[in-house]
Amino acid sequence: MEYLELGDKELAPEYRELKENVHRFARDVLRPAAVALDKLASPEQVIAPDSRLWQFFKQAWALGYHTVTIPAEYGGLGLHGVGMQVFLEELGWGSADLALSLGVASFPFSALAMTGNPRLIDEYVTPFIQDREARHIGCWPVTEPSHGSDWAMALSADYDPATPGRATIRRDGDGYVISGQKAPWVSNGTISTHGLTYLMEPASSGRQGGGAVAFIPFDLPGVSKGKPLNKLGQRALNQGEIFFDNVRVPAEYVMITPETFEYGAAATLTGANSTMAAVFTGVARSAFDLALEYSRQRVQGGVPICEHQLVQKHLFEMFTKVQACRTLSRAVLAHNDGAAIPELEYACAAKTFCTQAAFEVASDALQLFGGNGLSRDYPIEKIFRDARASLIEDGTNDVLSLAGARRIIDRA
Ligand SMILES: Cc1cc2nc3c(=O)[nH]c(=O)nc-3n(C[C@H](O)[C@H](O)[C@H](O)COP(=O)(O)OP(=O)(O)OC[C@H]3O[C@@H](n4cnc5c(N)ncnc54)[C@H](O)[C@@H]3O)c2cc1C
Repeated sequence: MEYLELGDKELAPEYRELKENVHRFARDVLRPAAVALDKLASPEQVIAPDSRLWQFFKQAWALGYHTVTIPAEYGGLGLHGVGMQVFLEELGWGSADLALSLGVASFPFSALAMTGNPRLIDEYVTPFIQDREARHIGCWPVTEPSHGSDWAMALSADYDPATPGRATIRRDGDGYVISGQKAPWVSNGTISTHGLTYLMEPASSGRQGGGAVAFIPFDLPGVSKGKPLNKLGQRALNQGEIFFDNVRVPAEYVMITPETFEYGAAATLTGANSTMAAVFTGVARSAFDLALEYSRQRVQGGVPICEHQLVQKHLFEMFTKVQACRTLSRAVLAHNDGAAIPELEYACAAKTFCTQAAFEVASDALQLFGGNGLSRDYPIEKIFRDARASLIEDGTNDVLSLAGARRIIDRA
């Protein structure tokens, strides 16, 4: 590593080592795979059996990187707080799409580990941890075709989205029955084997209760999937619908019930938004690094463009945003680390700030590349598209701002 980033001097030695290892993986494995997958014409090619995606997954799984959120007592890498920020920033520096694909893959399993249920841990979490072939891949199905922002809004406001179109859960004997459809936006949707799935009781809506979160193995009868989504940006992150047709699950698979839904869902959204903040800190840093390097090489007016004062001003503003992103995303992950009640407003602040900053830094970087910035032969246009998607991903920045604002206003 050429120099220490702001905040890295304070890192414990094991986190500095982690940073170097993950950086190497991001540079040598993750980024080349993401760039190659981004250039494929269709999302079907991204998930095809001979796709480079699977090589990437196997390399990540072989290093145990799929287990970072699972506590060490169960055999996971057990990263949290600052360690998690370091891990995610480096992956994001490599490329946002595969960083997030890897991140969400563990969601259902780490949530299950948190229940402490020994039978479920033996049956699902341990095989996931021991997997070195990427045979277990998780996803987080929340949104539905007719309910996107409604999910985030309902958490923090007295907000009552209409019920139709929800994926539902109803009690049936000693278990539950699940029906409905999740949006084509579910990350890892087409290739996932298990889902941490958000549901509603048929007669409920929003904050009025009735929400639940279930661990669902996708080999159960009644589960099916849609085709992969074709989109601008983060093209290596495959996405697709999940359908549930009267899927029966045992009661113990329902980890969050209506009684604990508001807390449980807010805690999950806090984790997801904090992840986004750290990953897009890395994205901003990658755009800045590339722009700096390019500005030292590209000559106009007889000098490298970095010698022109206006270019220097742009570079400095980009540099400042990267440092602010790291400082905020690291502080928020540290603040909520181990908290009995994680504070969603900080995670919303970090997600909205870091993704907006990443988009601005990527846009400025593209500008400094001139015409080459628009060319698919250069890396910046991909980073720009990836950053643009982040303003909508995991809740639009507008809606997360409203959710965060509600929390601040309602604080005692
Ligand atoms: C790259 C990517 C990855 C994703 N991964 C997942 C995933 O893993 N799982 C999953 O379930 N979903 C996922 N999503 C879906 C994502 O969470 C939704 O796209 C997002 O929450 C917005 O919902 P929507 O697209 O339905 O837009 P809508 O909710 O229809 O919003 C449309 C517009 O209206 C605005 N708006 C809506 N409601 C309000 C309101 N009450 N007040 C003010 N403005 C409002 C929004 O800000 C937006 O500008 C992903 C999306 C992307 C882009």
